[in-house]
Amino acid sequence: MKSWKSLLLGAALIASGQAAQANEVVVYSARNEQLIKPLFDAYTKETGVKIKFITDKEGPLMARLKAEGRNTPADVFMTVDAGNLWQAAREDLLKPVDSKLLAANIPEHLRDPDNEWFGLSVRARTIIYNPNKVKAGELGTYEDLASPKWKNRLCLRTSKKVYNQSLVGMMIYEHGEDKTEQIVRGWVANQATQPFPDDTKAMEAVAAGLCDATIVNTYYYGRLMSKKPDLPLAIFWPNQNLKSKAAGVHVNISGAGVTRHAKNTAGAIKLLEWLSSSNAQNLYADVNMEYPANPRIKADPAVLAWGEFKPNLINVAQAGALQTKAVMLMDRAGYK
Ligand code: FE
Repeated sequence: MKSWKSLLLGAALIASGQAAQANEVVVYSARNEQLIKPLFDAYTKETGVKIKFITDKEGPLMARLKAEGRNTPADVFMTVDAGNLWQAAREDLLKPVDSKLLAANIPEHLRDPDNEWFGLSVRARTIIYNPNKVKAGELGTYEDLASPKWKNRLCLRTSKKVYNQSLVGMMIYEHGEDKTEQIVRGWVANQATQPFPDDTKAMEAVAAGLCDATIVNTYYYGRLMSKKPDLPLAIFWPNQNLKSKAAGVHVNISGAGVTRHAKNTAGAIKLLEWLSSSNAQNLYADVNMEYPANPRIKADPAVLAWGEFKPNLINVAQAGALQTKAVMLMDRAGYK
């Protein structure tokens, strides 16, 4: 059903792409419709520019951009995780954008050093624990979860998910491969059970007492707690000792770039600039309980209630650059 609709829309987009209209921008989005449609509607209302979009998983969308080549109707590619955006840039599906506004609105560590993609919202990958079983004071760092005191107390999501590949990639950047492999081996040894298919199931296992702590993206915690506020789960911000070289909570982004063969490059850049500005940043972040990427915009009160933290400031592009090494390392360490 969905693929039929997407196929038909795709054909229509290619047909209309021949006469690309200046007042229309085409977006391929791996973020789902409910997250992006309110934004695009607001943009159209404010500017009169129409946005056509297709949503799918990032893999099929990237394959499609590649197959369509010069004929692609897409002006903008939107997805989650710097690892995915880095991959799109590496496959030459994006092109650099020179925008003073984007440079001013998005912190340097949340955008591509070559300006091919820009973070638009931020998620932290942090520690969630069961306060009935763990005192916050027992927790400290991602690295410490590898120590024997956490034996049989840890739940992890599968290493197949890009979020964990990015986290481990960033750790390789900080610690080198040998030390990171030791840490990941420690995590694996401390697992109470096999890895979980998603962040929410890992948290539910913590709440059910199967294990004591896990590592997840903040918005999954937000979603779960807004549905089941009585679950015994609490948030912990690790690595807050800023003298450490692995300082700060690991953050990642959802973001976007202008496609290599965009027909409406100027319109695509304007849309990205608008998405980085105040009105859009609130809408974009709040709807998924994420943090705005623009530091001048405050997060939603429900998100702010989780407390302040110092983020890791290494450029998230490293998550992509070290992704292959991270995947191989997790495989060697027996992290399924
Ligand atoms: Fe997610």
